[in-house]
Amino acid sequence: MGFCWGVRRAIEMMEKAVQERGRIVSLGPIVHNPQVVDTLAEKGIQVASSVEGVDGASIAITAHGTGPDVFDEARSQDVDVVDTTCPIVSRSQRWARKLAESGFTVIVYGDADHREVKGVLSWARGKGIALTEEDLGSLPEDLSSRVAVISQTTQSPARFADFVSSLLKERLDAIGELRVINTLCDVTSSQQAAARELAREVDLMLVIGGRNSANTRHLVEVCREEGVVTHHIEAASGLQDKWFEGCQRVGVTAGASTPDSAVEEVVRRIQALAKAGRG
Ligand code: SF4
Repeated sequence: MGFCWGVRRAIEMMEKAVQERGRIVSLGPIVHNPQVVDTLAEKGIQVASSVEGVDGASIAITAHGTGPDVFDEARSQDVDVVDTTCPIVSRSQRWARKLAESGFTVIVYGDADHREVKGVLSWARGKGIALTEEDLGSLPEDLSSRVAVISQTTQSPARFADFVSSLLKERLDAIGELRVINTLCDVTSSQQAAARELAREVDLMLVIGGRNSANTRHLVEVCREEGVVTHHIEAASGLQDKWFEGCQRVGVTAGASTPDSAVEEVVRRIQALAKAGRG
């Protein structure tokens, strides 16, 4: 639980860069966690939404990655770039580019509004589309007969497999060639498997992480699928004493972008409640 190695690597790279260069502007929040963003801001790592207006600072690409247009824009404006894209996301981007260049329509299974998905699609240079199960009923008619499917790294393996099989059933008549590349992140899969196992053993699951973190939300879904009462909180301040009434065993897990300190604080609060006889 907690920060995955891709996010730890990105933060370390940015902290090193800010020491060397003085000021860094991250394009979008480094992680979907407001507390971490605030802590990094204190260290001189600010957040902006675009290359414009960074005012001479170096820009940092987050672990989610970005599209080639952002690198082109930075180059054209002579802006220095610290690229902390997670290597697993970079691999996905390379596949998107390669498959699009080979004539495939690239389907990215995932959330069209997620930064990683937007970045990966940019590498397909207009030959890609983001879809989820809900979109299968209204697939674009003009999909090419050569279709490649990759996945947002944080999706669950079981859902990705279901999506691919449903896509094939929906479009078997129109698809001449289907390529499926597994771009899922193992860190995420093992984290989800561990959360599932823990959820089976407890009366209550607490999942700590930003509301916008796809990875954290998937952990919540995975725990709920096990039938256990599950609450999603961003920090210890989100805990409610009444959740623990009659509760014997509590499971705690955290998304890939949740700092260890947030997890430790939640555990301390639960231990204090247990001591006070309410847990
Ligand atoms: S969850 Fe996986 S793909 Fe995403 S940043 Fe972490 S290691 Fe990289």
